[in-house]
Amino acid sequence: MQILDGKLVSQAVKDDLRKKVETLKQKALKTPHLVAILIGTNGASETYVASKVKTCEEIGFESTLIRYEDTIDEVTLLNKIEELNADAAIDGILVQLPLPKQISEEKVINAIAAEKDVDGFHPSNIGKMVQGQPAYIPATPYGILLLLEYYKIETKGKYAVVIGRSNIVGRPMSILLSQNTTTGNCTVTLCHSHTKNLKEICLQADIIVAALGKPEFLKADMVKEGAVVIDVGITRVEDKTKKKGYTIKGDVDFEAVAPKCSYITPVPGGVGAMTIAALMKNTLLAADGK
Ligand code: NAD
Repeated sequence: MQILDGKLVSQAVKDDLRKKVETLKQKALKTPHLVAILIGTNGASETYVASKVKTCEEIGFESTLIRYEDTIDEVTLLNKIEELNADAAIDGILVQLPLPKQISEEKVINAIAAEKDVDGFHPSNIGKMVQGQPAYIPATPYGILLLLEYYKIETKGKYAVVIGRSNIVGRPMSILLSQNTTTGNCTVTLCHSHTKNLKEICLQADIIVAALGKPEFLKADMVKEGAVVIDVGITRVEDKTKKKGYTIKGDVDFEAVAPKCSYITPVPGGVGAMTIAALMKNTLLAADGK
């Protein structure tokens, strides 16, 4: 069993990006500038955004963090997005999800200019991705592809099972694994909360991507010997022995599943680290050529 080390691979991606930014600076070209909008004080969202801003600094990107109270109205947010869309100094815009109840996630996603949508959530980017056209690929699936590529994991002809059909992880992951690319060409089954015989389906899988948000859901008796297991889940589970009062759990029962796998991602240090690296790659792409 080999660990798919997201920390190591994301560092390699970030080192490469840092060199590219240095070259841009030497040529007096524009430095990529990412704007992150954070609404409210959700602990996990705070952590994700802080980490995105810190990574921008590490690489040499410019970044701006815009914060709003969770009482913000939809029009104010949409007006801000419009202003950022029109600002030539800004290359990438992301609005950290989830959003408060009074704000439509769909309206916000649609409002971000497709060419600045570095999260890859805009229907235009999703549509292009589905057709295999150049597009910003949603950061988490993109990060997973980078990990598969780095470890030269053969996907061609393999049977992949994706658990979870969200627009940001499971569904795009299932599409990307099925495409005619070096990290694709799988036969894919997309499972969700209404899937029957999930255990039997998983037992057939050469590759399993668990993205359902249920701590330690995937057990050893659901995984065949030699499978590749990618754990996307990040759930804070109460743990009074920890200073923070919680511990982070993935969707895979790691201790029991790992011995059966050929490759497996840990949590933390797997997909999470890769998501940020992929977001940074999208941001460089957004700035390219300016
Ligand atoms: P979501 O809640 O939007 O979707 C969950 C999906 O799981 C749904 O499609 C649902 O049908 C499916 N599901 C729920 N229970 C199921 C069951 N018993 N059997 C089969 N399918 C079931 O979740 P999401 O936004 O895709 O996130 C999933 C997990 O990944 C969460 O833990 C989230 O925190 C984590 N996440 C991690 C990263 C990262 O960078 N590592 C990025 C995004 C999300």
